[in-house]
Amino acid sequence: GRAPGGPYRVVLLGASGVGKTAFSSIFAGAADSMDSDDCELCADEVCEKKIEVDGEAATITLLDTSDAETDDGPAREHYMQTGDAYLLLYSVTDRASFLRASELRITLRRFRPAQHTPIILVGNKCDLARRREVSVNEGRACAAVFDCKFIETSAAVQHNIWEAFHGMVRQLRLRRDSK
Ligand code: GDP
Repeated sequence: GRAPGGPYRVVLLGASGVGKTAFSSIFAGAADSMDSDDCELCADEVCEKKIEVDGEAATITLLDTSDAETDDGPAREHYMQTGDAYLLLYSVTDRASFLRASELRITLRRFRPAQHTPIILVGNKCDLARRREVSVNEGRACAAVFDCKFIETSAAVQHNIWEAFHGMVRQLRLRRDSK
């Protein structure tokens, strides 16, 4: 009974500091958010926006789990159970966040065992080449093991952010059309 163009609930997951707030700020339209503390708009809140992907409108409801990630309680469970799709972020400059993404992927599988929920593994901060701790190939290999898509992004220079959202919508449509 879901309407063809959404709204799709897309959940941002990932360790602290990987760029979830920066992602949701770009999504919400605050282009200069990297230079200000004015990122509160979407943090831990629902932010709904209509975007056009391949000539067709889609409404995305973005949920940023920034403060919920250390919380293994009901809020976290709620996110894990109610998303239509997940952006699983790590920072390519932080190996611990890459390991955290793997843990979150496993937790997701536990919460959504039978369902084919679209997940994209997102390696953010690819602009910081000299501080890189996780290679592109490692990211890609991890995504292959976890059976999800993979993209590297930079919220700082706004590289591939919309591609990630568009890829998400395309996966959701494929899933919808195959039903
Ligand atoms: P969150 O804890 O996951 O919400 O992470 P934030 O969005 O608050 O980002 C943490 C820090 O990393 C902030 O200082 C951001 O400005 C910075 N940051 C986020 N994304 C990028 C990126 O793609 N490149 C660079 N260089 N810095 C980033």
